[in-house]
Amino acid sequence: MSLNGIRIFVSQKNNSVLVQLHDLKFTPFISEAEITSAIEQLAQKINEEYRDEKPVFLGILNGAFLFAAELIKRFEGDCEVNFVKLSSYEGTGTTGNVDTLLGLTQPLEGRTVIVIEDIVDTGNTLESIDRILKAEKVKKSKIVTLFYKPEAYKKPLPIDYVGMEIPNDFIVGYGLDYDGLGRNLRQVYKLKESNMTNLVLFGPPGAGKGTQATILKEKYQLKHISTGDVFRYNIKNATELGTLAKSYMDKGQLVPDEVTIDMLRAEVEKDIEGNGFIFDGFPRTVAQAEALAELLQENDTEVSAMVALEVDDEVLVQRLLERGKTSGRPDDANEEVIRKRIRVYYEETAILKQFYLKQDKYYGVDGEGTITEITQRLSEVIDRIKK
Ligand code: 5GP
Ligand code: MG
Repeated sequence: MSLNGIRIFVSQKNNSVLVQLHDLKFTPFISEAEITSAIEQLAQKINEEYRDEKPVFLGILNGAFLFAAELIKRFEGDCEVNFVKLSSYEGTGTTGNVDTLLGLTQPLEGRTVIVIEDIVDTGNTLESIDRILKAEKVKKSKIVTLFYKPEAYKKPLPIDYVGMEIPNDFIVGYGLDYDGLGRNLRQVYKLKESNMTNLVLFGPPGAGKGTQATILKEKYQLKHISTGDVFRYNIKNATELGTLAKSYMDKGQLVPDEVTIDMLRAEVEKDIEGNGFIFDGFPRTVAQAEALAELLQENDTEVSAMVALEVDDEVLVQRLLERGKTSGRPDDANEEVIRKRIRVYYEETAILKQFYLKQDKYYGVDGEGTITEITQRLSEVIDRIKK
């Protein structure tokens, strides 16, 4: 369904209506009925206290336009209405920031002014408005806001009338926008919280990473993104990115991180409504780990854990030599080559282990034992982080 360029769709998972604005998804948070009821209560108080004072309602644009309309139409006394926008510009020399109210078309001296705000967050906006109103010599000024975030508010200025207190989340709808969109939504939505499980899977050569990735992918319905497969797919199908990547490879150069991350982005965005991903073969560097974090954040999710299979070097060497006897893979036949590959693995992953340890996201899992035993250990980690 499409509404003025806003995408609205029903999520398969929780059956709720999601709204996408630009790059972000939002889920229903406060219903139209709840908002209306909050406004009715506010209107009742404002009527009781200001019916006979002929107040000036000062609606703060843009966000407060809907709320102001609903509140003011319920006011039963005489009143005047002025919509204004706060404008801040840098002053010269020592004056600092200069704030003005654009659109203020009437003198406010000696008047009762009721400031109508959509939402009070840090209170910066409100403080500037209050300063201007004092300079205008109003008789008194009162603040009425539809939404208020107590956890974010840092100012001493009292907020006289609050429709609803909300947690410190980013909301849209009912006048409030995200980068210009969403003001026309009839109810309030909040940023969708991710319930994805996104694993970065690591393991030295011979640890059984491929086997476990295949099992976990089935068990948790995750999408397995192996950088090697993604590269082969893009090159084989001569996609724009594949062709670009190949041009570097043909010259014997490393494919730049941006190209790789763009391929991964395409894979992630294909399944962003799914349960999550297993990243395999990526990231290899801190720069790539940061790029992955950014890519996932753009899609309102994150890496849940780096899971590394831990296997003793001697066990790996024996396993790979065994495998070399039957697989005929030349890099599995030579003990020295095997030891070098294991060393390279530890050199590469040490820094990533630190990267994820710092975020409390590193999980080392004993990779010795039967396939079932190892799956069991991995599942314990996944079940823990899913909670
Ligand atoms: P404050 O100056 O109190 O930090 O923020 C006030 C302004 O920030 C609001 O008028 C609104 O434009 C914007 N704002 C604060 N919190 C939110 C929010 O959760 N959603 C949206 N859309 N805008 C917000
Ligand atoms: Mg505002």
